[in-house]
Amino acid sequence: MSKVVVLTGGNKGIGKAVAMLLLKTTKQPLTLYLTARQPGLGAAAIDDINSSGLPSTSGSHLVFHQLDITDQSSVDTLAADLKASHGQIDVLINNAGIATKGSRFDSEVVKQTLDCNYFGTQRICDALIPLIKPEGGRLVCVSSSAGLLSSLPSASLRPQFSDSHLTHQQLDQLMNKFAADVVSGTYRHEGWPQNSYAVSKVGMTALTKICAREHPGMVINACCPGYVKTDMAPNGFLTPEGGSFTPTLLAIGDIGNTSGLFWKNCYSVTW
Ligand code: NDP
Repeated sequence: MSKVVVLTGGNKGIGKAVAMLLLKTTKQPLTLYLTARQPGLGAAAIDDINSSGLPSTSGSHLVFHQLDITDQSSVDTLAADLKASHGQIDVLINNAGIATKGSRFDSEVVKQTLDCNYFGTQRICDALIPLIKPEGGRLVCVSSSAGLLSSLPSASLRPQFSDSHLTHQQLDQLMNKFAADVVSGTYRHEGWPQNSYAVSKVGMTALTKICAREHPGMVINACCPGYVKTDMAPNGFLTPEGGSFTPTLLAIGDIGNTSGLFWKNCYSVTW
């Protein structure tokens, strides 16, 4: 029987490399849903991976599904189709993300970044976690070292994010407060960095930890893939394959029941 794995942002960069490494290293055939917001790009990635021969070597197959994590109807359609076809899924890898190029920092950039990296990830978690096998199913969130707690200048903000009793509602409030503080121009005084990407990834990691607490039978972790040369990070020094090691380990590797942690270079590290 094949494992059902769902990957977001799979058409390029680290996501596409994760798809290839999953197929290369899996011990069990996979039904791998490579999702992308643009169908043409997703189909091209699937053609490319199929032509490598990797899926047939592992007895796996790739399935394309459209997915824009900022679009509720797109997320709902994916969830309904997965439920109808499989009932349950084994693994969800939240890789999709954006980072604004250059130093622009204003309320619009903050809104777009939080909408995708934090609220988009939350949207897909809400829709698909109920489909993940409650015992042994896995969730991987590709966060970033930019989202380490130390990115928050204020010593009073950090414990709010790392509070082991933090709720979804409280986390949403923190993210919305950041956006509001940028609009009002008080964000520095309130202890936020001038970096929407970092705050979105701090939020994504805190969200991962809440999910791990709520679903103790699952294996749920966040990670930094490393500094990887992709369209997002043209100066990165790792290849996309190098950046795929940690997310792939957390998705199908032998990590026991380690859950609720932040990983980098295939090791759990202090968040
Ligand atoms: P890329 O820009 O190469 O790829 C990002 C992927 O996310 C693309 O497939 C993109 O689709 C997709 N995406 C963006 N927005 C959405 C959306 N709303 N819905 C669905 N998919 C979306 O970046 P990377 O491969 O470098 O990044 C992958 C992940 O790794 C991101 O979460 C990033 O934050 C994280 N990361 C990357 C680092 C690096 O050094 N590269 C370092 C640390 C973390 P499309 O092609 O349509 O834009």
